[in-house]
Amino acid sequence: MRLHVVSFGCQMSVADGGEMAAPLLARGFRAVARPEDADAIVLNTCTVRQHAEDKALSLIGRLRPWKDADPDRVLIVAGCAAERLGGWIRTRFPHVDLVVGAKSIEDYPRVVEEALAARFDALSETRAAFGAEAAPESPIGWTSSVVAPVTIMRGCNYSCSYCIVPAVRGRETYRPYETVMSEIRAKAALGAREILLLGQTVNSWHARGTDGRERRFPELLRAAAAVDGVARVRFESPHPFFVDDALIAALAEEPRTGDVVHMPVQSGSDRVLALMRRNYTADSFLGKIKRLQTAAPRIEVTTDIIVGFPSETDDDFRRTLELVERLRPASAYTFKYSPRAGTESAGLPDDVPEAGTEERLSRLNALCDGLTEAAMRARVGRDVEVLDENGGYGRARDGFRVKWGTPAEPGRLRTVRITGTMKRTLLGECQ
Ligand code: SAH
Ligand code: SF4
Repeated sequence: MRLHVVSFGCQMSVADGGEMAAPLLARGFRAVARPEDADAIVLNTCTVRQHAEDKALSLIGRLRPWKDADPDRVLIVAGCAAERLGGWIRTRFPHVDLVVGAKSIEDYPRVVEEALAARFDALSETRAAFGAEAAPESPIGWTSSVVAPVTIMRGCNYSCSYCIVPAVRGRETYRPYETVMSEIRAKAALGAREILLLGQTVNSWHARGTDGRERRFPELLRAAAAVDGVARVRFESPHPFFVDDALIAALAEEPRTGDVVHMPVQSGSDRVLALMRRNYTADSFLGKIKRLQTAAPRIEVTTDIIVGFPSETDDDFRRTLELVERLRPASAYTFKYSPRAGTESAGLPDDVPEAGTEERLSRLNALCDGLTEAAMRARVGRDVEVLDENGGYGRARDGFRVKWGTPAEPGRLRTVRITGTMKRTLLGECQ
């Protein structure tokens, strides 16, 4: 049995796709890169912006001939858009076998397995037939790679006015400390060198251990970094509210946390930030970053920014540009505001004309691209530590992609002298 998993959206969605696939791969399914080669497809959707949702919906539509060619094939639609539009997807796309929304995430492996078992005889038989190809079983059913995602919390307790995530993923739940740690140890034992801790507000994580003692995120970060074999621990996305002295100290004192923190700011205008219900001002955000960078000067920041939020004026936008100039992010994801039905800001008049939003986006992108290019040029001639992710290709401690060719050995830390740049990749020679 051949399985194709495709995930749209954030790293969490990609990690969810991996969690669904893992038990199936352990049972003899084989992962294939092209949907047309698959007997079963898991399509993990995103709904955070209309554009992301449209891409997933369009792929569902395009898979109709694949399904019609052999009705025994199984199409499973999962994730955030499945949560928001489940009933509609079933009616609109009758060729979909199973729709399972993001709130049922804990049940994904079981539900997916059941849907497939119903179609492909018993999964135990497929396992006998494909036993030789079966991935090695591990306690977590994960097949190794150099960077291992580890989801530590799900859902979001914030209510940013533009954001659909709390509606489709529900309130925050935290995975227990021991569960997270044993997953990290198991993945490191299988060859993971970089652990990516995931959650919508990942640094709000806290949980009581079996010894009854409460752990908070900074302690988990230090413990993860100390696991045998782990060279780096990154995390996404932290919320500025939970950037406290303990987290700053952990980042300053533990070099294995790497040299980059992704911290979405969204806007530089206090008026817009208040309408977004972000609970900080431009100055308080920059103040937190300053404290962090004073304690750990090696750390670069990357961010997310939304333009064209309802009522955003030229003056609000100018403040966003000013904030970017002060923050100097190494890179930034920039988005056009996308109204999501049911969110608070969807009720505000969407009064920024499309042409104006486009113009703001291209000005912002020009500024951000310039900062990224300058940061990349500044690295030419320097020696940087790179984790080989894919045989001669990997990421530097500050998150920049680096390509050097040979010698290639996934999982190895290398010192690479940067000699040039190509688009968003640094080119170099292994030292
Ligand atoms: N939990 C993360 C962000 C999750 S969504 C955080 O709070 O930092 C990822 C990014 O998508 C956000 O940072 C935001 O920039 C963007 N985004 C979310 N909703 C959006 C919307 N309705 N329109 C445009 N961009 C949006
Ligand atoms: Fe959405 Fe805000 Fe929660 Fe991030 S913190 S997921 S932007 S509601």
